Amino acid sequence: MPTTEQQWFDFAPAAPAAAEPAPAPLLVAPRPAPAGDRLALDEAGEVAVRRSAKATRYRLSVGRDGAAVLTIPMHGSERQARQFLESQSDWLARTRHRLAALPRSAAVWTIGTSVLWRGEWRTIDRAPEATPHVVLGGERFRVRGHAGDLRPTLEAHFRRVARIELPPRTWELAAVTGVEVREVVVRDQRTRWGSCSSSGTISLNWRLVQAPAFAADYIVLHELMHLREMNHSERFWALVEAVCPRWQEAERWLKNHGGALGL
Ligand SMILES: [Zn+2]
Repeated sequence: MPTTEQQWFDFAPAAPAAAEPAPAPLLVAPRPAPAGDRLALDEAGEVAVRRSAKATRYRLSVGRDGAAVLTIPMHGSERQARQFLESQSDWLARTRHRLAALPRSAAVWTIGTSVLWRGEWRTIDRAPEATPHVVLGGERFRVRGHAGDLRPTLEAHFRRVARIELPPRTWELAAVTGVEVREVVVRDQRTRWGSCSSSGTISLNWRLVQAPAFAADYIVLHELMHLREMNHSERFWALVEAVCPRWQEAERWLKNHGGALGL
C-alpha cells in the first residue's frame, strides 16, 4: 500500500471513425521520460512526467513531500496528459494542502518528541527509574540513556512488540474468519503494510503496532481475504467489507499516517 495519493483516468484509445484513416500505431513512442520532462501547471506548480510501457491509463500521484508525478500510458499523448492534469488540478491542490498539514514524525527522537504509538501521538517522557527508561503512552521502554537519538532503540522495542503481538492476533482472526494460514511473519517493509503469498504466508509490517488496533486488524483481514480472493476485485472488497466494516476508515488512517511512519 503506497503512501502516495493517486488519481487516474482510464485510457481508452479512441476508435478511429470509419471515414478516417487508421491512426499511426503509436502516438508517442514509449520511452523513459528524460529527467527534465515536466509539465507546468499554473496554480499547482510543476508535475514530473513519466512514460510507462506498462501503464494502461493516465495516473497522477502525489508523494508525501507534495511532489507530483504524472504517468502517461504507452499510447498516450501529451495533449491528453495535459487535459487529464487540468481536470485534476483541484484534486492536486487539495491533496498537496492536506499532505502539508499532516503531522510528521521527527527524524531524530529525543525526550519530548511526539511519536505515533498504538494509534496516538505520544510524547516521549523520561521515566523516574534509576536505570534509564522512557514512557510512551503509559508503556515503559528501556533505553541506554536519555541523551542522543532514542529512535533506533525505541524502534527496536516496537519491532519486538510487533513480533510478539501481531502473529497471535493474525492466528486469532484467521480462526474467526476460517481462513487457512501457513505462516505469519513480521517484517521491516518500507513500501507496504502487509502482503501475502498464495502458499498461505502472511507478512506484516512491524510499524502496524504504531497504528490503532482497528487499522492493524484491517490489514490482517485484508491479507486473510486475499487468501480467498487473490486480487482487488469487487468480490474481494465484498469479503473485506463483511469481516471489517470499518475498512474505509482504516484505509484513511493508514494513508494519512503512512508518511509519519516512514512508509
Ligand atoms: Zn490487497
